[in-house]
Amino acid sequence: MTLFEKIAARDIPATIIAEGEEWIAFRDIAPQAPIHFLVVPKKCIPRLNEATPAQASLLGTLLEAAAATARQEGLGESGYRVVINNGVDGGETVPHLHIHVLGKRQMQWPPG
Ligand code: 5GP
Repeated sequence: MTLFEKIAARDIPATIIAEGEEWIAFRDIAPQAPIHFLVVPKKCIPRLNEATPAQASLLGTLLEAAAATARQEGLGESGYRVVINNGVDGGETVPHLHIHVLGKRQMQWPPG
């Protein structure tokens, strides 16, 4: 099992803030903004680059879950950033697809 599958199974503790049939949202252990949570599919897709057309519906569900959870966290009005790190150059460190949602501070562009 991946780290995030273990979190979804409650084998590893995390602050879970929302959950659906196919996904879970929990606070990042090393937050990069006052609000920083991850949305992950319960079944592992290693990274976006390996998602298949058959998983297109799940990818949409994950984005909708990210937006719904952002609203739940009070970010709907102020805004937020959504990030997916893919592979070495993208800065990916956990090989289980996850959407970062960061808010409650002004983001910069271009990203580092
Ligand atoms: P990546 O760098 O792969 O895009 O993001 C992985 C994220 O997972 C990082 O922001 C990191 O802080 C977070 N993370 C790593 N291990 C854990 C953990 O055990 N629990 C939680 N809640 N977040 C984790």
